[in-house]
Amino acid sequence: MTVHARHGAVTDIGRVRRGNEDRYLVDPSLGLYAVADGMGGHRAGEVASETALDALHEAVGDGGDIETAMTLANEAVFEKASDDDELRGMGTTLTAVTLRDDKLEVGHVGDSRAYLRRDGSLQQLTDDHSLVAELVAAGEISEDEAEVDPRRSMITRALGIEPGVEVDVVPIAVQAGDRLVLCSDGLTGMIRDDALAEILEQESDPKDAAKRLVDRANEAGGIDNVTVVVVDIVDGPAPDDGELVERGPQPGESSGGPLRRTMRRLRLRRKADPSGE
Ligand code: MN
Repeated sequence: MTVHARHGAVTDIGRVRRGNEDRYLVDPSLGLYAVADGMGGHRAGEVASETALDALHEAVGDGGDIETAMTLANEAVFEKASDDDELRGMGTTLTAVTLRDDKLEVGHVGDSRAYLRRDGSLQQLTDDHSLVAELVAAGEISEDEAEVDPRRSMITRALGIEPGVEVDVVPIAVQAGDRLVLCSDGLTGMIRDDALAEILEQESDPKDAAKRLVDRANEAGGIDNVTVVVVDIVDGPAPDDGELVERGPQPGESSGGPLRRTMRRLRLRRKADPSGE
Protein backbone atom coordinates (compact mmCIF):
# COMPACT_ATOMS: atom_id res chain seq x y z
CA MET A 1 0.00 0.00 0.00
CA THR A 2 1.29 3.44 -0.88
CA VAL A 3 0.88 6.14 1.69
CA HIS A 4 2.36 9.55 2.29
CA ALA A 5 2.33 12.05 5.13
CA ARG A 6 0.94 15.51 5.76
CA HIS A 7 2.08 17.44 8.77
CA GLY A 8 1.61 20.45 11.01
CA ALA A 9 4.25 21.66 13.48
CA VAL A 10 4.18 24.44 16.07
CA THR A 11 6.47 25.44 18.91
CA ASP A 12 5.86 28.19 21.44
CA ILE A 13 7.75 29.71 24.35
CA GLY A 14 4.71 29.36 26.61
CA ARG A 15 3.55 31.89 29.18
CA VAL A 16 6.26 31.71 31.82
CA ARG A 17 9.67 30.84 30.36
CA ARG A 18 12.04 33.49 29.00
CA GLY A 19 13.48 31.36 26.23
CA ASN A 20 12.38 28.42 24.10
CA GLU A 21 14.67 25.40 24.44
CA ASP A 22 12.31 23.16 22.45
CA ARG A 23 13.07 22.48 18.81
CA TYR A 24 11.36 20.53 16.07
CA LEU A 25 12.51 19.22 12.71
CA VAL A 26 10.45 18.04 9.75
CA ASP A 27 12.02 16.72 6.55
CA PRO A 28 9.25 15.21 4.40
CA SER A 29 11.71 13.98 1.75
CA LEU A 30 13.43 11.81 4.40
CA GLY A 31 10.19 10.98 6.21
CA LEU A 32 11.83 12.44 9.33
CA TYR A 33 9.89 14.15 12.13
CA ALA A 34 11.41 15.02 15.51
CA VAL A 35 10.90 16.96 18.73
CA ALA A 36 13.71 17.81 21.19
CA ASP A 37 13.40 19.53 24.56
CA GLY A 38 16.77 20.84 25.71
CA MET A 39 18.00 21.53 29.22
CA GLY A 40 20.98 23.31 30.69
CA GLY A 41 22.04 26.69 32.04
CA HIS A 42 22.08 29.95 30.06
CA ARG A 43 21.49 29.04 26.42
CA ALA A 44 22.86 25.49 26.73
CA GLY A 45 19.39 23.92 26.50
CA GLU A 46 18.68 25.30 23.07
CA VAL A 47 22.20 24.42 21.91
CA ALA A 48 21.59 20.84 23.04
CA SER A 49 18.24 20.45 21.25
CA GLU A 50 19.55 22.19 18.12
CA THR A 51 22.75 20.09 18.05
CA ALA A 52 20.80 16.86 18.48
CA LEU A 53 18.47 17.70 15.57
CA ASP A 54 21.39 18.70 13.31
CA ALA A 55 23.16 15.39 13.95
CA LEU A 56 19.95 13.38 13.63
CA HIS A 57 19.13 15.06 10.32
CA GLU A 58 22.56 14.38 8.90
CA ALA A 59 22.59 10.75 10.01
CA VAL A 60 19.12 9.98 8.62
CA GLY A 61 20.09 11.80 5.42
CA ASP A 62 23.08 9.44 5.18
CA GLY A 63 20.70 6.48 5.36
CA GLY A 64 21.06 5.67 9.05
CA ASP A 65 18.21 4.00 10.91
CA ILE A 66 16.61 5.80 13.84
CA GLU A 67 18.68 4.05 16.50
CA THR A 68 21.97 4.80 14.77
CA ALA A 69 20.93 8.39 14.11
CA MET A 70 19.97 8.98 17.72
CA THR A 71 23.19 7.39 18.95
CA LEU A 72 25.13 9.83 16.74
CA ALA A 73 22.97 12.69 18.01
CA ASN A 74 23.87 11.70 21.57
CA GLU A 75 27.57 11.75 20.71
CA ALA A 76 27.29 15.15 19.06
CA VAL A 77 25.65 16.73 22.11
CA PHE A 78 28.01 14.98 24.52
CA GLU A 79 31.10 16.12 22.63
CA LYS A 80 29.93 19.70 22.37
CA ALA A 81 29.14 19.74 26.10
CA SER A 82 32.57 18.32 26.92
CA ASP A 83 34.37 20.91 24.80
CA ASP A 84 32.80 24.02 26.29
CA ASP A 85 32.57 24.96 29.96
CA GLU A 86 29.44 27.03 29.36
CA LEU A 87 27.66 24.04 27.85
CA ARG A 88 28.83 21.41 30.31
CA GLY A 89 25.99 19.25 31.61
CA MET A 90 23.54 20.18 28.85
CA GLY A 91 21.23 17.53 27.51
CA THR A 92 18.05 17.05 25.56
CA THR A 93 15.12 14.74 25.09
CA LEU A 94 14.63 13.42 21.58
CA THR A 95 11.55 11.74 20.20
CA ALA A 96 11.87 11.12 16.48
CA VAL A 97 10.28 9.04 13.77
CA THR A 98 11.28 7.92 10.32
CA LEU A 99 8.59 6.96 7.83
CA ARG A 100 9.73 4.87 4.89
CA ASP A 101 6.88 3.52 2.79
CA ASP A 102 4.44 2.32 5.44
CA LYS A 103 7.16 1.47 7.96
CA LEU A 104 7.39 3.85 10.86
CA GLU A 105 10.18 3.69 13.41
CA VAL A 106 9.91 5.66 16.62
CA GLY A 107 13.13 6.45 18.50
CA HIS A 108 12.85 7.87 21.98
CA VAL A 109 14.88 9.16 24.92
CA GLY A 110 13.46 11.38 27.70
CA ASP A 111 9.99 12.66 28.54
CA SER A 112 8.77 14.03 25.25
CA ARG A 113 6.16 11.69 23.78
CA ALA A 114 4.83 10.01 20.66
CA TYR A 115 1.16 9.09 20.35
CA LEU A 116 -0.71 7.20 17.65
CA ARG A 117 -4.36 7.86 16.95
CA ARG A 118 -5.91 4.98 15.00
CA ASP A 119 -9.58 4.16 14.46
CA GLY A 120 -10.59 6.82 16.96
CA SER A 121 -8.46 5.65 19.85
CA LEU A 122 -5.30 7.24 21.16
CA GLN A 123 -2.29 5.21 22.26
CA GLN A 124 0.93 6.50 23.81
CA LEU A 125 3.80 4.84 21.92
CA THR A 126 6.62 5.92 24.23
CA ASP A 127 7.39 5.45 27.93
CA ASP A 128 8.47 8.56 29.80
CA HIS A 129 12.02 8.29 31.08
CA SER A 130 11.14 10.26 34.18
CA LEU A 131 11.31 9.84 37.91
CA VAL A 132 7.54 9.98 38.36
CA ALA A 133 6.99 7.40 35.60
CA GLU A 134 9.35 5.07 37.49
CA LEU A 135 7.50 5.73 40.74
CA VAL A 136 4.18 4.93 39.04
CA ALA A 137 5.63 1.75 37.53
CA ALA A 138 6.90 0.73 40.97
CA GLY A 139 3.44 1.33 42.45
CA GLU A 140 4.71 4.03 44.79
CA ILE A 141 2.45 6.79 43.49
CA SER A 142 -0.73 6.73 41.39
CA GLU A 143 -1.09 8.19 37.90
CA ASP A 144 -3.26 10.96 39.33
CA GLU A 145 -0.59 11.80 41.91
CA ALA A 146 2.05 11.77 39.17
CA GLU A 147 0.19 14.49 37.26
CA VAL A 148 0.67 16.99 40.08
CA ASP A 149 3.97 15.70 41.50
CA PRO A 150 6.52 18.55 41.81
CA ARG A 151 9.25 16.17 40.60
CA ARG A 152 7.38 15.71 37.30
CA SER A 153 10.05 17.36 35.16
CA MET A 154 12.94 15.24 36.48
CA ILE A 155 14.06 12.89 33.74
CA THR A 156 16.09 9.72 34.10
CA ARG A 157 17.45 9.48 30.57
CA ALA A 158 18.57 12.22 28.18
CA LEU A 159 20.79 12.70 25.15
CA GLY A 160 24.23 14.22 25.67
CA ILE A 161 24.80 13.38 29.32
CA GLU A 162 26.96 10.28 28.81
CA PRO A 163 29.07 9.00 25.89
CA GLY A 164 26.45 6.34 25.14
CA VAL A 165 22.68 6.22 25.50
CA GLU A 166 20.00 3.54 25.41
CA VAL A 167 17.46 4.39 22.72
CA ASP A 168 13.93 2.95 22.85
CA VAL A 169 12.84 1.90 19.36
CA VAL A 170 9.22 1.13 18.44
CA PRO A 171 8.51 -0.17 14.90
CA ILE A 172 4.98 0.29 13.56
CA ALA A 173 3.28 -0.51 10.26
CA VAL A 174 1.17 2.54 9.57
CA GLN A 175 -2.02 2.72 7.52
CA ALA A 176 -3.98 5.50 5.88
CA GLY A 177 -5.99 7.37 8.49
CA ASP A 178 -3.35 7.04 11.21
CA ARG A 179 -2.38 10.25 12.98
CA LEU A 180 0.90 10.51 14.83
CA VAL A 181 1.65 13.17 17.43
CA LEU A 182 5.10 14.11 18.73
CA CYS A 183 5.16 16.58 21.61
CA SER A 184 7.25 17.99 24.42
CA ASP A 185 6.18 17.77 28.07
CA GLY A 186 5.02 21.38 27.83
CA LEU A 187 1.91 19.91 26.19
CA THR A 188 1.34 16.77 28.25
CA GLY A 189 2.11 18.54 31.52
CA MET A 190 -0.72 20.98 30.75
CA ILE A 191 -3.49 18.89 29.21
CA ARG A 192 -4.77 15.40 29.86
CA ASP A 193 -4.90 12.64 27.27
CA ASP A 194 -8.70 12.97 26.93
CA ALA A 195 -8.37 16.65 25.95
CA LEU A 196 -5.59 15.71 23.53
CA ALA A 197 -7.80 13.01 22.00
CA GLU A 198 -10.74 15.41 21.70
CA ILE A 199 -8.74 18.05 19.80
CA LEU A 200 -7.22 15.42 17.51
CA GLU A 201 -10.76 14.26 16.76
CA GLN A 202 -12.12 17.76 16.09
CA GLU A 203 -9.32 19.23 13.97
CA SER A 204 -8.96 17.37 10.70
CA ASP A 205 -6.12 19.54 9.37
CA PRO A 206 -2.77 18.64 11.01
CA LYS A 207 -1.66 22.29 11.14
CA ASP A 208 -4.88 23.33 12.85
CA ALA A 209 -4.55 20.43 15.29
CA ALA A 210 -0.97 21.34 16.25
CA LYS A 211 -1.89 25.00 16.66
CA ARG A 212 -4.92 24.27 18.78
CA LEU A 213 -3.01 21.90 21.07
CA VAL A 214 -0.37 24.57 21.69
CA ASP A 215 -3.08 27.17 22.34
CA ARG A 216 -4.77 24.83 24.80
CA ALA A 217 -1.50 24.27 26.72
CA ASN A 218 -1.06 28.04 26.98
CA GLU A 219 -4.66 28.54 28.10
CA ALA A 220 -4.00 25.98 30.84
CA GLY A 221 -1.06 28.06 32.10
CA GLY A 222 1.73 27.46 29.60
CA ILE A 223 4.31 26.88 32.33
CA ASP A 224 6.79 25.33 29.89
CA ASN A 225 7.84 25.64 26.25
CA VAL A 226 5.38 23.63 24.17
CA THR A 227 5.98 21.85 20.87
CA VAL A 228 3.63 19.70 18.82
CA VAL A 229 4.18 17.90 15.51
CA VAL A 230 1.13 16.19 13.99
CA VAL A 231 1.70 13.75 11.12
CA ASP A 232 -1.24 12.33 9.16
CA ILE A 233 -0.83 9.20 7.08
CA VAL A 234 -2.74 9.63 3.83
CA ASP A 235 -3.54 7.23 0.99
CA GLY A 236 -1.62 7.44 -2.25
CA PRO A 237 1.81 8.58 -3.41
CA ALA A 238 3.29 11.89 -2.21
CA PRO A 239 2.45 14.87 -4.41
CA ASP A 240 5.29 16.15 -6.64
CA ASP A 241 5.47 19.58 -5.01
CA GLY A 242 7.99 18.19 -2.51
CA GLU A 243 7.64 19.93 0.81
CA LEU A 244 10.68 21.66 2.26
CA VAL A 245 12.58 21.05 5.44
CA GLU A 246 10.94 22.88 8.32
CA ARG A 247 12.54 23.72 11.64
CA GLY A 248 11.15 25.49 14.64
CA PRO A 249 11.06 27.97 16.19
CA GLN A 250 10.66 29.75 12.84
CA PRO A 251 11.11 33.50 12.39
CA GLY A 252 7.97 35.01 13.87
CA GLU A 253 7.41 32.17 16.32
CA SER A 254 8.19 33.42 19.81
CA SER A 255 11.55 32.01 20.77
CA GLY A 256 12.46 34.35 23.59
CA GLY A 257 14.69 36.60 21.53
CA PRO A 258 18.24 35.27 21.19
CA LEU A 259 19.56 38.82 20.96
CA ARG A 260 18.30 39.77 24.39
CA ARG A 261 19.69 36.58 25.85
CA THR A 262 23.10 37.17 24.30
CA MET A 263 23.20 40.69 25.66
CA ARG A 264 22.37 39.47 29.12
CA ARG A 265 25.22 37.01 28.97
CA LEU A 266 27.65 39.68 27.85
CA ARG A 267 26.58 41.91 30.70
CA LEU A 268 27.08 39.10 33.18
CA ARG A 269 30.53 38.42 31.81
CA ARG A 270 31.46 42.06 32.04
CA LYS A 271 30.40 42.10 35.64
CA ALA A 272 32.65 39.17 36.35
CA ASP A 273 35.55 40.72 34.49
CA PRO A 274 35.76 44.50 35.12
CA SER A 275 38.58 44.94 32.58
CA GLY A 276 36.18 43.98 29.76
CA GLU A 277 36.80 41.27 27.20
MN1 MN B 1 9.84 20.83 28.60
